[in-house]
Amino acid sequence: MKRPASLLDIGQMPKLDETMKTLFDWLVSKELVGEGSTMDLQSEDLKDAALLDGASMAIAQATGRREPSRRKTQKEMKDLKERFKDRSPVGVTQEAVWGAVRDPATSVRALNWQKLPADAMAFYRPFHFRPFDQWGIYLLVGPLLDYHGRLQAFSSDLKLYSPEVLMHLVLFEIFNHEFFHHLAESTATSLEILSAAQGNVQPVYLTYRQAQRSTGFDYPHAPLEEALANAYAHNALSFISRIKAGYKTATIKSYQEAIKQHWHLEPAGYRDAAFYIDSAYVAGGAHLLAQMLGDPGAVNVAPLSCLAKHLMPNGFTALLQKPDIPTYLVGSDQALAAFAALVPAPNEAYTQLFWPFNSQAIDAFVAQKQEEEKAKRKAAPKGSKNARQGELDLSQ
Ligand SMILES: [Zn+2]
Repeated sequence: MKRPASLLDIGQMPKLDETMKTLFDWLVSKELVGEGSTMDLQSEDLKDAALLDGASMAIAQATGRREPSRRKTQKEMKDLKERFKDRSPVGVTQEAVWGAVRDPATSVRALNWQKLPADAMAFYRPFHFRPFDQWGIYLLVGPLLDYHGRLQAFSSDLKLYSPEVLMHLVLFEIFNHEFFHHLAESTATSLEILSAAQGNVQPVYLTYRQAQRSTGFDYPHAPLEEALANAYAHNALSFISRIKAGYKTATIKSYQEAIKQHWHLEPAGYRDAAFYIDSAYVAGGAHLLAQMLGDPGAVNVAPLSCLAKHLMPNGFTALLQKPDIPTYLVGSDQALAAFAALVPAPNEAYTQLFWPFNSQAIDAFVAQKQEEEKAKRKAAPKGSKNARQGELDLSQ
């Protein structure tokens, strides 16, 4: 049987394909990229946050150890689960977890959390700056370990997080903050492609970045992208916690409460994330689109909120998905080894909050307590204080 003609056969295959290589070459040909310098920095030199804006610098590990984090194979995951099947989270009590299931906010209210912005422990290097082989997310393992150590000291009395679980939560939060910067850059790139296709080549991303740095578009929560990145990390945790109540849900919800209560300690923009959590991300995305279009008032002229809800910048905007973004763990051998002991599967941890620890006993305890509550509510006469209390708990 004759094969039907392909687009190639009939001369209709687009000359420009969908690969990142094509995109990068195109960005260069249209002069839409800036230059980043290449520096072979030692990891100890990475502590100065001013160095980490991703535009003025690039990192190449001179040692050749700049290996991107990769997904584990099915076999590796199976072996990992087998190895950890008897390891339950250390220092955690069932009662503390049940307390956090009932009321995650109260469980963390007393924390003396010295919140650091995500960008003090990681950064996103945009592909709008050459050299292209260096774009991606850089997780700075030394600062991550220091921060984790301090959080652990503040939170150990809660009996809620084992050191490993706490590091997974921090890593997930930080990665997802940085991933939002990729969503923002992907959004700007989409606008560049669409306007160039109409004959109007515009350096959307570079212009937007510069304005964000100089005036912040006079937006009350400038830099808005940082507020949205924090909110995105918070919302990504909500997405993971839509599973039945148990240890993971309790730790996620209490951790979310903790970051919400401590955002105010972060720099401008970052600290305003609460304006954009849950469904409020739509309005924030609309403002960001307007800023990228160079006209903050555009939110009142065209329904940019429609785009922000369904198109960009949300999870579908990404030019590369979470597990595939070039992501580098940067640090000394010693720091990397300490980190690996806490997080045996980093890629799975920062994309899905996977951890191999066994929480079956805690989950069973929570399930049993929930059954007891349910039975109590059924037994209590309708409208009584007990019944109302039960409803309150359910709403959390
Ligand atoms: Zn950031």
